[in-house]
Order: sequence, then C-alpha cells, then structure tokens
Amino acid sequence: MPTPLLAGNWKLHCLRQEARDLASAIVDGSKGLEGRDVLVAPPYTALVDTAEVLSGSSVALSSQDLYWEPKGAFTGQVSAAMIKDTGCSHAIIGHSERRQHFGETDYTVAKKVAAADEAGLIPIVCVGETLEQREEGATMALVEKQVRGGLFELPAEAFKTLIVAYEPVWAIGTGKTATPEQAEEVHQHIRSVLRSLTEDAIADDIRILYGGSVKPDNVDELMACPNVNGALVGGASLKADDFLRIVHYQE
Ligand code: PEP
Repeated sequence: MPTPLLAGNWKLHCLRQEARDLASAIVDGSKGLEGRDVLVAPPYTALVDTAEVLSGSSVALSSQDLYWEPKGAFTGQVSAAMIKDTGCSHAIIGHSERRQHFGETDYTVAKKVAAADEAGLIPIVCVGETLEQREEGATMALVEKQVRGGLFELPAEAFKTLIVAYEPVWAIGTGKTATPEQAEEVHQHIRSVLRSLTEDAIADDIRILYGGSVKPDNVDELMACPNVNGALVGGASLKADDFLRIVHYQE
C-alpha cells in the first residue's frame, strides 16, 4: 500500500505573510506524523516564503501549475525549472479549474507532465468528470481518456513517483462530495488504466488522491476506501485546524 498523501491546494489565496502563517501552523501540527505525507500548494508568489517555513520539516511543497517551455518569449509563464528553483518537489497539473477556465487539454497536460518530470518535479495529475458527463454515464471513459492522454509522454521510470488525483468537477468547491463507493469505483478504474500503462507492482504503488469537498467530517470514510491513497483538499486546506484534522484522519 502506498503511503497516504494529504495535500492542500491553496488556489488563489494567501498573500506572502498569510502563507507563512498557514504553513507554520501546518508544520507544527504535523510534527511527529508517521506513515503519512503532507504537501501544500500555495500560489506562485508565496512559494519561496512557504519553502522557507517548510525547510527542515517533512511537509512538501508543490506549485499549482507550470508551463512546459524551459525559457523564451512566453510572457507570464513559469517554467518547471523555475518552480523547482523555489523549493518545490511537486507540481499539480491539469486541475479542473485550469481545464475549465484556462483552456487546459489532455495535450497541454501531457506536455506539462513531461516538463515537470524533466525538471525533477513529481506531477500530481488531476482528472475528473463534470456532472453532465456523470449523468450521461461517461465518467469511466472520460477519466480513462484523461489519464491516458495526460500521461502518454511520461517516461516509464517516472510512473514510480507519479501521483494522480481524481477530482469530480461537480464536487469541487460545491460542498457535494462523492460517496466513498463512487470514489472507490473510479479509483479502481484509474488503477486498472495505470496497470495497462506500467508494471502492475508500480501501478499498485501509485497514489490516487481523491479531491472534491474533502472536509474533517468526511475524510475518515473516504480514506477507508482501499484505492483512495490520500486527498487533494481545496477550501478546507486554508484553515489550519481543518486541514490538520484531515491530515490526522482516523483509520
Ligand atoms: C481542489 O481544489 O482540488 C478541491 C478539491 O477543492 P475543494 O476541496 O474546495 O472542493
């Protein structure tokens, strides 16, 4: 069983000092934690400050996106090497908010995933269906397409550290959470797709996180699902107490 990962996506929140305060509370509250990994993903502008606060702790740092080109005339973009340079070990890629609002496609996800790997960052690749797609019965096919499409450029070796996040769009920021049965069903399918892309033993060790309104009062039942290997938490990761309750979920 892979080590569970509890990850906080801070989205478009936190000025630098706010990020420092939140990171500091998370470091304090996760001291001595065993058998679980913790990660935070602040906005770009707070990465260096957060890295300073996390330094010497076991809490990992991630960006929320990156651009695939290493350098050049791409105003406003941030490369994988630049993100690595801030102290990040991970990069979230293909979050549904980027797919919805910023034109992210499986093709751009694949390019970003490859660039992250090339720079030594571990990609956290997000997939998930809209409500309409779920109601049409298209969830499994869509998620499979996103996993295959997003990972097709990833070198074989990189599957050993890859992280996938299943985040149903209808559950993100809505207060609606997938039931443990719904989450487990999709996670099992993602696992089987991963098994077709790499060796079974490697696929079985890939962490598949669930994201979508994970809160202190639903994390325990979600984490009890055999193929849910962690959580990607948005709203509830902005309050240290809530996030730490999630980190300390009950088995
Ligand atoms: C997310 O940002 O990835 C997310 C799942 O958000 P929330 O927990 O607020 O639904």
